[in-house]
Amino acid sequence: MRLLRRIVAWLPLRGWVQFVSTLFANSYFLSGFKGFCYPVLNCWSCPTASFACPIGALQNSAAAARLSLRAGAPLASVIPFYVLGTLVLFSALFGRLMCGWLCPFGWFQELVGRRGKRLRIPRWTTYLRYVSLVVPVLVIPYYTGEAWFSKLCPMGALEGSIPQPLLQPDLRSQLGMMWYLKLAILAVTIAAAYVWRRPFCGAVCPLGAFFSLFVRYSAWQTRFDDRRCVDCQLCVRNCPQGIDPRRDVNSHACISCLECTKCPYDAIKSQPIWRDLLAKEAGTARRSGITCHEATEVCVGKPDCHTQDDSK
Ligand code: SF4
Ligand code: SF4
Ligand code: SF4
Repeated sequence: MRLLRRIVAWLPLRGWVQFVSTLFANSYFLSGFKGFCYPVLNCWSCPTASFACPIGALQNSAAAARLSLRAGAPLASVIPFYVLGTLVLFSALFGRLMCGWLCPFGWFQELVGRRGKRLRIPRWTTYLRYVSLVVPVLVIPYYTGEAWFSKLCPMGALEGSIPQPLLQPDLRSQLGMMWYLKLAILAVTIAAAYVWRRPFCGAVCPLGAFFSLFVRYSAWQTRFDDRRCVDCQLCVRNCPQGIDPRRDVNSHACISCLECTKCPYDAIKSQPIWRDLLAKEAGTARRSGITCHEATEVCVGKPDCHTQDDSK
């Protein structure tokens, strides 16, 4: 029992969810589902991968599009509706929760950085991800017919380039410059993850960039309630992305790790928007004279405290 408790305590809840998601994405037994996308960065060429990587699928579509269009195919036939539809559906429902809770490469960077310096990457670098999404994932594959982001992807190196030659000795004689370059990029990413918090997620990942486009409009939203905030700054110190959640709680750089929702004063909540709507209705009911059930020592006495309304 003691051992079990120690094992459970080894990781926080989010760590265990990331662990299970990583196993699910690399179960080996589910490899019959490689035609489907799991909305995280998990290399398709990993021997144990269960699903396709959405970024790999987007690149392959872009790489095939030019030839198809030249051969007279209609534009609609080269648009990867299935991959885009999967990504839009997940991000419209969950924003970037996939980054904070499911993605194996996000988790890998967190594990590397656990004992590292844990610096925050400069905010301006978060815009580089959009360049990553457009140039090596769409434009270059379209013009060259090759999936260039995958050729250099550190997750591909970790899950594909390293285990493949170990499992298939015949491949070793075919390793060339690109293999060494990819490994060098992985080494740089690991070194960076030791210094900065999730540097690949923050400055490079095209999938994270795609999810960011929906973070403000998704059905899952984080809300900040300034009536409860006492400016203790805990959320600012905890945020791995250097965001001040009091000012920009649904920032495009947010990875939805939900660390800021550990606010001891309950000033930051992350939940589906229908719960917001229910809460608003409850607030309206309170203002109509129904007793407040949420009064705490934090909000009682503040200018818009409902208990004061109720007592009038
Ligand atoms: S931004 Fe990070 S967590 Fe999100 S998909 Fe990319 S690697 Fe994974
Ligand atoms: S942790 Fe909560 S109370 Fe403290 S600054 Fe953040 S929102 Fe305000
Ligand atoms: S704002 Fe909150 S959820 Fe977003 S990255 Fe920072 S701590 Fe995580």
